[in-house]
Amino acid sequence: MSVSVALFTSDLRLHDNPVLRAAVHDADAVVPLFVRDRGIQRAGFDAPNRRAFLADCLRDLDAGLRRRGGQLVVRDEDVVSAARAVAAETGARDLHVAAGVSGYALRREERLRTALASVGCALHVHDAVVTALAPGRITPAGRDHFAVFTPYFRRWQAEEIRGTLPAPRTVRLPQEVTGAPLPERSEVTGVSPGLAAGGESAGRRLLSSWLNGPLADYANGHDDLAGDATSRLSPYLHFGCLSAAEVVHRARHRGGSGAEAFVRQLAWRDFHHQVLAARPDAAHADYRPRDDRWRSDEDEIAAWRTGRTGYPLVDAGMRQLAHEGWMHNRTRMLTASFLTKTLYADWRVGAAHFLDLLVDGDLANNQLNWQWAAGTGTDTRPNRVLDPVAQGRRFDPRGTYVRRWVPELAGVPGGAVHEPWKPAVREAAPDYPAPLVDLGAARSRFERARGLG
Ligand code: FAD
Repeated sequence: MSVSVALFTSDLRLHDNPVLRAAVHDADAVVPLFVRDRGIQRAGFDAPNRRAFLADCLRDLDAGLRRRGGQLVVRDEDVVSAARAVAAETGARDLHVAAGVSGYALRREERLRTALASVGCALHVHDAVVTALAPGRITPAGRDHFAVFTPYFRRWQAEEIRGTLPAPRTVRLPQEVTGAPLPERSEVTGVSPGLAAGGESAGRRLLSSWLNGPLADYANGHDDLAGDATSRLSPYLHFGCLSAAEVVHRARHRGGSGAEAFVRQLAWRDFHHQVLAARPDAAHADYRPRDDRWRSDEDEIAAWRTGRTGYPLVDAGMRQLAHEGWMHNRTRMLTASFLTKTLYADWRVGAAHFLDLLVDGDLANNQLNWQWAAGTGTDTRPNRVLDPVAQGRRFDPRGTYVRRWVPELAGVPGGAVHEPWKPAVREAAPDYPAPLVDLGAARSRFERARGLG
């Protein structure tokens, strides 16, 4: 009996999964394997919110595999040793895995190839599993990746996204394989109280209800903070509970301006992945160095982290992050601009804090969005500074989002909430902190540092 291994990484799904599909087609029996990789744990990348969400994903994947006659095999060790051991134990001739983009994933591929070869097992790396379009599939003349989104998007739109694959009907497991117990979400401590439930089933339900309703208003509503009118699909895409290619196809099938705007955001995801694949060092080094000599004021950074800067929209975003392990894109942009430009602190400090909490936290999207916000990345307006008061008036004009997350301001009516230093507002919100910095002075400091003034 021939055996193959489907090594799940960022593709925790049965539907439209080229890795699982190839493994099932290749052999009589398949080992669906997930390794709680010690390497990722050592790198501190398994933050509680993502560990809890992952536990949901693995349970759901296991349940789906069992309905098809299989089961998820979980191992707790270094991913390469586990893959090699499983191949040796079962006599598997082929191991399938999704292509990754981080430096870690690229090294993992190389290590897997060598280790598997020693037990007579071939490695098959599948493209366009994690993203809709594989990194490197489109490139500008003479370069290995696009550094600016607009030309990338023009080409991306003209490319054909691969067709979607059905979930396998049956999955047959070889007899000799055993695994560790599935992790439990309840075992994880330090989880945000409002964390979403993980898993392919939850992701598919959310996708269907999103496509059947709110998507239509996405073009107008995506920046309305009070309306909370974005898809919230990011964690399901991050863990691969949903396939980006399938989401693009289904949204395009709906059509309309909402779908167009939404698909454009999915292209941003692909864009950042192709930057990181070509420049893995962008996870920690400036993509476009600006000779910044970042400040490092621990009290200011602590106020930013805990949502006590005295700027309501910044604080609301940071508190949403702590409570849900997720933050709206508009406040992600504002809080990142506030840290890196208004406080002029290193983007790596902010990116690390986000990665500690974000359930969708991933190296490509997080680090490159942080660099974009800091002006060291792909932004074509690198020195733009977002003003928290103006952003509040524009994207939360009635103050609803702020009052939702900042209880000290709950008694302040309407948009007045964005200027809590005004005497009448101070009286209604005596416990809310005074502004940490003067916005005008902070902007001048940043502009001087960037050689603009
Ligand atoms: P929607 O508005 O519904 O968009 C649909 C999908 O498009 C998202 O799920 C996401 O996969 C993708 N997308 C949307 N905006 C972006 C973007 N700017 N860049 C890349 N992909 C995008 N996104 C992450 O998935 N992981 C991160 O770690 C992450 N860190 C960020 C850090 C900062 C400082 C900033 C400014 C943005 C970050 N983003 C990150 C991008 C974006 O904020 C989130 O993807 C989005 O808020 C998720 O909510 P949603 O699923 O409702 O998005």
